[in-house]
Amino acid sequence: MLKVKKKAKPEKILLGEEIYILWQDGHESRISYFDMRDACPCASCVDELSGEKTLDSTKIPKNIRPLKSEYVGNYALRIYWSDQHNTGIFHYKMLRNFENSQK
Ligand SMILES: [Zn+2]
Repeated sequence: MLKVKKKAKPEKILLGEEIYILWQDGHESRISYFDMRDACPCASCVDELSGEKTLDSTKIPKNIRPLKSEYVGNYALRIYWSDQHNTGIFHYKMLRNFENSQK
């Protein structure tokens, strides 16, 4: 397991072909939008009680893209997706530990 410093915060976030995050400690993350949307942790994508994923990955458009993003406090990023989904709050800790499925 990759250990994350508590203060790992993004220095810069770019929404290009994929999401690019430069962290304050110099680490770089690149996450595909599909994988990120697929990992949405919100209550309509994950069962709050069991923690099980209820989102049907096959329903996510392959060309899913973020329309905009905004910072939530100083701990997370909120994405407004092109499939009208915008309730997912992506904690930096989660983004930092994110592993793309297509590798
Ligand atoms: Zn969601």
